[in-house]
Amino acid sequence: MKNNYSWAWKGIQKQLTFIKQHCKWRLGRGNKIKIWLDVWVPGMDTPPTPKQGVADSEHYIWVKDIFLQDISQWNSELLHHLFDSNVMDLILNMRIPTEAEDKLIWNLTHNGVFTLKSTYNRLHELSMGNLQTSNKIQNSTISWKKFWNIHTWPRVKHLWWKCLTDSLPTKVRLAINCRYIKCLCPLCNQFDESLMHILFNCPFSRAFWMHISGGVGILTGAHNSITVMFESWMIQPQHQSNHTVVLNTAMIVSCYIEKLNSSVSVTTNIGPLVRKVLPKWKPLAYPFYALNFDASYDATTGLTGIAIVVRDFAGRWRGWKFKRYAGIRSSEQAECLTFLDAIRWGIELRYTHIVFETDLQGIDSYINNSTPAVAWKNEDILLDAIDSLKNIPQ
Ligand SMILES: [Zn+2]
Repeated sequence: MKNNYSWAWKGIQKQLTFIKQHCKWRLGRGNKIKIWLDVWVPGMDTPPTPKQGVADSEHYIWVKDIFLQDISQWNSELLHHLFDSNVMDLILNMRIPTEAEDKLIWNLTHNGVFTLKSTYNRLHELSMGNLQTSNKIQNSTISWKKFWNIHTWPRVKHLWWKCLTDSLPTKVRLAINCRYIKCLCPLCNQFDESLMHILFNCPFSRAFWMHISGGVGILTGAHNSITVMFESWMIQPQHQSNHTVVLNTAMIVSCYIEKLNSSVSVTTNIGPLVRKVLPKWKPLAYPFYALNFDASYDATTGLTGIAIVVRDFAGRWRGWKFKRYAGIRSSEQAECLTFLDAIRWGIELRYTHIVFETDLQGIDSYINNSTPAVAWKNEDILLDAIDSLKNIPQ
């Protein structure tokens, strides 16, 4: 194959083995099936090979060559000569039709006719490690029936169905089948774009969750798998009045976040969408601007991503900023740096009335109680930040 072939064609090439695996010959007259090159023996996924020591196998090309033509039976003496006993037994078990033609069939469908659906299903099954997901959500006790009965918009359910069956085309997911795809999240450019990252862990997504009531609570489960998280939303006792609220809000918001994240690379016109995303978010009174910030810290790599989002008093999206750091020691250090960056950006923006919003615990208690609640190693960052606050125009 030439190097300049398109990736689509490379993809097709890659799947050729798969297609060959599931194409089989149904025996008819035996004049179209090649004994040693085609898959035609039931119970075998490959063409048969001659018994060791057989020197004249190439004299027999077509399956009809091993028939006793006139009486429609296998030439058992010849079979014994050509094949190992187990293969011979399989062949002897095959009935030789009298009328039918040889026919190439697709063994993934009942009627042997190729369908895209059967191909997709089988490929999907393989990529899921053959997990049976038809009745239950992956590794979960929730049934699909219960899932489809959730009262929310169909498109929201559809997104969640994709999440729970791991079929949402995240970069991480796509890279499993196509090695040309890079996994990095195009938003934060720092972590791999996995499902959990898109919906919960990306700093941009976190910024959204923080703005809805109960959103922070939802984020606390974000280290779990998607199924574990979903299960925990589902199994909350039905009599709890906020049960449906949590479930619905979480599902709907994640749907919007996914949409937002996937559209962000093609359009920057996201203002109206943001308003729709967060109908409950209350803008501040005129003339205040809200500067919301959050950090995402990975303890194993020390990589940190921070996101800062600004909205005006009408709730309009006024901009965002993203920055990343490497070699960060702790989540607290990440929080402090985020705070400092947020303030510095606030100064650059030259807005006169800014409200800084965050759920970073350490920062909040430090600022409001003036207690040295943060580690000394990080206190200098906070002190810088507080000092910079004086430069916000009044
Ligand atoms: Zn990201």
